[in-house]
Amino acid sequence: SKLKEGLEKTRKGITDKIDDLFTRYGEIDDDLFEELEEILITADVGMQTTMKLIDMLKEELRIRKIKEVSAVKDVFKDVVEKLLVENGHTTFEVGNEPTIIMVIGVNGVGKTTSIGKIANLLKAQGKSVLIAAGDTFRAAAIDQLKVWGDRVGVSVIHQSEGSDPAAVIFDAVQSAKAKNADVLICDTAGRLHNKVNLMNELSKVFRVIDREYPEAKKEVLLVLDATTGQNAVQQAKVFNEAAEISGIVLTKLDGTAKGGVVLAISSELQIPVKLIGVGEGVDDLQQFNPHDFAEALMG
Ligand code: GDP
Repeated sequence: SKLKEGLEKTRKGITDKIDDLFTRYGEIDDDLFEELEEILITADVGMQTTMKLIDMLKEELRIRKIKEVSAVKDVFKDVVEKLLVENGHTTFEVGNEPTIIMVIGVNGVGKTTSIGKIANLLKAQGKSVLIAAGDTFRAAAIDQLKVWGDRVGVSVIHQSEGSDPAAVIFDAVQSAKAKNADVLICDTAGRLHNKVNLMNELSKVFRVIDREYPEAKKEVLLVLDATTGQNAVQQAKVFNEAAEISGIVLTKLDGTAKGGVVLAISSELQIPVKLIGVGEGVDDLQQFNPHDFAEALMG
């Protein structure tokens, strides 16, 4: 499957090492857990989440009275899935009510690409979609968004570089209402180096949306780049202070050995990873599914 292929590098970092670990050990002991811990930390699961997973594994092995090393892997797979589900997993879905999707994240993480992919996905479900080019700071961002709009057949509401993002979003909301669009996807600026400005800008845009279209359902998706590993977790913590994030889009899972970061995000932030990017193409976006993820990861 595409997910399995996409996670190939992470798999090499986790599964192959875990397999090797379980062939080397004759019995379940502390050294085995310590080595497992190391493997997980190397795959960017993060210290805190790794400890939690190991504790859950030990508990599960005790409950199931498992003594054979050969059986540990399947239990661990279940534990990975359980951790993701426990922290509140929900899929990405747009209902029948008009919906506004705010897409936030740092420049370069794959925001533009993800917006294009999401627009395509929703169009395929028969929704009428509009995109708002709310990152007015970068001319390239507006252009790239227009390219994606053309590619997937969705209109992009935009103004010139440097214009007020709140004004663009205001326009786009009026347009969405006038056209009865099912979904409006809003791009936003992502200059995290000026945290206060970024937060102010985001809250201004949120206020416009709430004021102009209170009846619309709101979804706030944070885009994170899986290749940045623990940095992605840090970004999520910063954005979490600025906005009520309803889901995460984790991009570039295909090119990285750091797929374990999914577990860190889920466990440390309790924000569901809803969509994953597994390539640069328009179809390379998938619903995140804890069971499939655990299967793809652990083989
Ligand atoms: P933005 O600055 O956040 O809007 O980032 P872009 O959408 O322009 O993406 C930055 C780069 O990452 C581009 O070259 C994209 O093709 C690439 N990219 C985005 N998502 C993915 C993904 O899921 N997998 C891979 N391999 N590349 C991606």
